Amino acid sequence: MKDQTTRAAIGIDLGGTAIKAGLVCRDGAVPARQGIATEAGGGVDHVLGRIAGLIGAMRRHAADLGVELEAVGVGMPGTLSHRAGVVFAPPNLPGWRNVPVVERLRAATGMNVVMENDANCAALGEFVCGAGRGVRNLVLLTLGTGIGGGIILDGRLWRGSNENAGEIGHQIVQLDGRPCNCGQRGCLEAYASASQTAARAVEAIRSGQASVLRALVDGGRPLTSEDVVQASQAGDELARRVWEETCRYLAVSCLNIQHGWAPDCIVLAGGMSGAGELLRRPILEAMDKLASKLLGPLPDVRLARLGNDAGFIGAALGVLLEPG
Ligand SMILES: [Zn+2]
Repeated sequence: MKDQTTRAAIGIDLGGTAIKAGLVCRDGAVPARQGIATEAGGGVDHVLGRIAGLIGAMRRHAADLGVELEAVGVGMPGTLSHRAGVVFAPPNLPGWRNVPVVERLRAATGMNVVMENDANCAALGEFVCGAGRGVRNLVLLTLGTGIGGGIILDGRLWRGSNENAGEIGHQIVQLDGRPCNCGQRGCLEAYASASQTAARAVEAIRSGQASVLRALVDGGRPLTSEDVVQASQAGDELARRVWEETCRYLAVSCLNIQHGWAPDCIVLAGGMSGAGELLRRPILEAMDKLASKLLGPLPDVRLARLGNDAGFIGAALGVLLEPG
């Protein structure tokens, strides 16, 4: 029997601006890590070459540390086929269409490579060594420019029959609502992502409503969800209303999640989760008001713990937990 802690995988988190890589052990420990710029403008071949270079660097670290390397896990945004190893059209990598990432990286490195959606990776990371440690069922939401999601059921990642289950951001929470980038209307993402929270505040200000944020908007500085939270804390009525609405939409989605999968906990991750208790508490309060309470206790809503490392840690854990 091998010592489980010496088995490791290389995790890669491919983002639009940065590629993060780490050597990750089965318990989530990260003995080596490295980050480089994506240089997405260089195109598919250039970026895949940079990833292959990072994999080479991680292999050298593994050899130096005497760590037994299993495989490479790559986390990517957007819809993809885990089985085929093909990413369809990642939103933050312009020009990438139906790229056979797994085949290309296998050819370049000679290693076994597995690809996974980045929110699924974050869910796996938080499940094994973050906010979800010790639970059996978990749903994670990444709250950033968009809203991603990942579902862990009975300790395993749930991909569904279309391999893209967990797209909680595109749950419709408002009939005939705001248009979403995905083509639907009324998606959670169209209301409660960081960027759409800021956009709703800007729209309200442009329609003539009073707010301390007007000076920023008139000055041409792009508003952020942090601006909305800060103004809300400072007593700005418009910001308070917009933020409360964001939290209420998220609460609706958390209840939908409970009705669908009844997880032990729902983990809030991504940039907007930096608001901490200012995000978590109003969501819990709104859930409490909206819920029927017939289905037992509400899922625990928790803040993610792994921060920006969750992507590459989860990508590696995916291959360690589900080899082959
Ligand atoms: Zn959508």
